[in-house]
Amino acid sequence: MIIEPKIFGNICLNAHPRGCGVQVQEQIDYVRARGRIEGAGNALIIGASNGYGLATRILAAYGCGAGTLGISFERPGSVSKPGSAGYYNDAAFLQAARRDGLAAESINGDAFSREIKQQAIARIRESLGSVDLVVYSIASPRRLDPQTGTLHSSVIKPLGRPFEAKTVNFLTGEVSQVRAEPAETEKEIDDTVKVMGGEDWLLWIDALEAAGLLAERCTTIAFSYIGPRFTAPIYRDGTIGRAKEHLERTAKDLNRRLAVRGGRALISVNKALVTRASAVIPAVPLYIALLYRVMKEKGLHEACIQQIDRLFRDHLYGDQPPPTDEEGRIRLDDREMLPEVQEEVAKRWRVVDSENVGSLSDIAGFRAEYLKYHGFGIEGIDYAEDVNPA
Ligand code: NAD
Repeated sequence: MIIEPKIFGNICLNAHPRGCGVQVQEQIDYVRARGRIEGAGNALIIGASNGYGLATRILAAYGCGAGTLGISFERPGSVSKPGSAGYYNDAAFLQAARRDGLAAESINGDAFSREIKQQAIARIRESLGSVDLVVYSIASPRRLDPQTGTLHSSVIKPLGRPFEAKTVNFLTGEVSQVRAEPAETEKEIDDTVKVMGGEDWLLWIDALEAAGLLAERCTTIAFSYIGPRFTAPIYRDGTIGRAKEHLERTAKDLNRRLAVRGGRALISVNKALVTRASAVIPAVPLYIALLYRVMKEKGLHEACIQQIDRLFRDHLYGDQPPPTDEEGRIRLDDREMLPEVQEEVAKRWRVVDSENVGSLSDIAGFRAEYLKYHGFGIEGIDYAEDVNPA
């Protein structure tokens, strides 16, 4: 089958297996070239097939030599239909890790379910013995609560009043005005917290601890985002912000609990990056396109793998970790939030339109990175060639 990108409304519906394989290998090569880190033993990564979770798995395996178990929820490819990018990324990672003599196992299924937690426990017991790094990196639109059987859907909405801002169609470069209506009920907020807050992270740690699989001085970490004031009404001050606050409170509770055994629970506030999720939040693609341009001009740009490389080398396993913020959070978004970066983005934000978006922002870079994330637009791949999506 010839696989070409199918994109509707800033969502890419398919992926290219070879392209995904190449971009996974590029991340592996990056970490290898940076050298060995004395750090994690075995690692469990929940949300391991894409974005920040995949980068973390690559750092644990290729930076620290760790055995890894990765959990993700992806659509497998079949002979007649391509699978999701994460499905191919995961297959590429497993193939590379096994070739390179690293212990690696994956489970494709719903991490929110009891069944997948039990499967993970059995796999850790069989193949890793225990884990001393647990990474929680799920981005999901819904969660079936195993305790109540209720399906919760998260919403990305402002609170109190509508959010109106510029946004961009990253394929055409058309800048337009977008309006998001506020959450109407407390239920919408509660549902978003149920999906993207810390409840399931806690259930994972409970299950691993009860099974005796958490190493004595284990580290667990989850990722958060704060961002600039233009996107605050839709992000940090909106429904998703409430979920992130819950995730951050969960980290504090978990940290107190794990400290007793010499362990720790951490939050890392990461930089805004092009991923499946960030491309569909109103206004965020335009902010990211402007941010990329400004950060590239200032020599400060980082993608997932550079962010997580810095997380491991400096913050998690460095001799002198940089200070955390007043809430105890690691700030990998420090460069994004520099006043000179934010001021320049704000200046451009005020004047950007469909005519000047190409010169003021890195819309081309956004598009290229989004396509690459799905295995497209990668040099050296002949996209006219037949591939077997299965
Ligand atoms: P992503 O969409 O690239 O990856 C999400 C992962 O979650 C995938 O591996 C997917 O398979 C997995 N997943 C989703 N639902 C699942 C389920 N039910 N069971 C098992 N696995 C499931 O996401 P990302 O952008 O890397 O985000 C990961 C975390 O980082 C999120 O908490 C997000 O808020 C945070 N973060 C993202 C950004 C950004 O700009 N992308 C910035 C800061 C923080």
